[in-house]
Amino acid sequence: FVTNKYLKLENTYADLPEKLYSRQDPDKVPEPEFAVFNSSLAKELGMNEEFLKSEDGLGVLSGNKILKNTTPISQAYCGHQFGYFTMLGDGRAVLLGEYVAKDGNRYDVQLKGSGETLYSRGGDGKATLGPMLREYIISEAMNALGVPTTRSLAVVDTGESIIRENILPGAVLTRISKSHIRVGTFQFIAKYGTYEELKQLADYTINRHYSYIKQNEGELYLNFLNQVVRKQAELIAKWQLIGFIHGVMNTDNMAISGETIDYGPCAFMDTYNPNTVFSSIDREGRYAYNNQPEMAAWNLARFAESLLKLLDKDVEKAVAKAQKAVSSFSTYFNEYWINGMRKKLGLVTEEDNDIELINELLALMEKYKADYTTTFSSLTAGNLDSQVMFEEEDFKKWFIKWKERLDRQDESDEECFKLMRKSNPMVIPRNHRVEEALDAAVKNNDYSVMDALLKAVTNPYDYSHKYKEYADAPKVINRCYKTYCGT
Ligand code: AMP
Ligand code: MG
Ligand code: MG
Repeated sequence: FVTNKYLKLENTYADLPEKLYSRQDPDKVPEPEFAVFNSSLAKELGMNEEFLKSEDGLGVLSGNKILKNTTPISQAYCGHQFGYFTMLGDGRAVLLGEYVAKDGNRYDVQLKGSGETLYSRGGDGKATLGPMLREYIISEAMNALGVPTTRSLAVVDTGESIIRENILPGAVLTRISKSHIRVGTFQFIAKYGTYEELKQLADYTINRHYSYIKQNEGELYLNFLNQVVRKQAELIAKWQLIGFIHGVMNTDNMAISGETIDYGPCAFMDTYNPNTVFSSIDREGRYAYNNQPEMAAWNLARFAESLLKLLDKDVEKAVAKAQKAVSSFSTYFNEYWINGMRKKLGLVTEEDNDIELINELLALMEKYKADYTTTFSSLTAGNLDSQVMFEEEDFKKWFIKWKERLDRQDESDEECFKLMRKSNPMVIPRNHRVEEALDAAVKNNDYSVMDALLKAVTNPYDYSHKYKEYADAPKVINRCYKTYCGT
């Protein structure tokens, strides 16, 4: 045990019905060492960095030491995986506790890769270094891009050998999130809990993430459902706008807080193709780029089902309320998306034909296999020599239409381009860059490539050309790029 004087954790989740979790200490590991530590996140949260980096701190973040007066747990949940319902739970994660940050917000501090739990279902409960570093890079990039997300406080290289197809170095990631309550958590309690227990989880979640709705008149749980729907619509619109493909949008990987969670098989799209899929197990393209909004709505329907008993005593009325709430997803999504697209094109005003202007550009990008990110950053920077598409007659016609559209606004060009610079990232974590950084770190224990990449991807809207080399699309597109979950 280590003193909890320097890192105070609470365990309010453990006050919920016991079936929602099991007491679980993390495994001990042989030779822990920080692979990467997120100083800026520690500072943001107001955590004691000196302690976290000390031997005791490393002990806690590797699983070797337990903080006094804490109740580490693994959480139970269900989920629809690729459409099929199953019992899941934290198979390789332990929630150490909740940290109340200096902004007053409560954050989960969770170890991922910390060994077997009650929910491991035959898995070893472990994680390997490459995928944990990958989660670190991409989640930090997402945060810098302005997308709600779980964060990564540290990755510890455990010194353990993990058996996968090859023998790989083991790792433990410290994940920070507003909470780890998922659609699947509600599915679990709806299936295995009582009405009272469902209500307890809902009340807890509302207090933690949507406490503002308690001031509203009307039906609390319906408002809750509506807010979760709206938040997800906002989140998925943000993904679409930056070309992010989650890859495994199962209901257990959808956080009620509206944060992006589970960075297994995700990746950013280079060449614009709405059907892009990276995940090796997503053979039917269920979670392809263009399907993400529809899949989110599908998940929200599962969420609504789990809330039915709270929506109305009369089943038919409850179903009608749930359907109405879920159907508002597409309205919200379209609004967030089109407004985001307007910003990407420097449009401050709204015109009815904007949607056509946007869709025409996307069609051209698809036709000419343009790079998604570079198209928008080039329009922003005003240098049109990066894409073949920019030379084409039909693009030139579109470009004139766009310029005329900009001219119909009162805002100066400079104001429009300022808006575009804030809305179009110059740098995203490109797959080839991420792979190169992971290779250097995992194979050669050289973290300099990853450090440089992290600087670039955490400054995505820097148009100064400081990070130019990270902005460029790969010279040769790897059309077979594959991603994996659970490694
Ligand atoms: P995911 O596809 O990443 O959402 O994971 C689905 C489920 O598999 C979750 O319940 C994970 O906790 C579990 N899981 C993933 N990897 C392992 C592992 N190595 N050992 C045990 N459970 C795992
Ligand atoms: Mg998961
Ligand atoms: Mg995962």
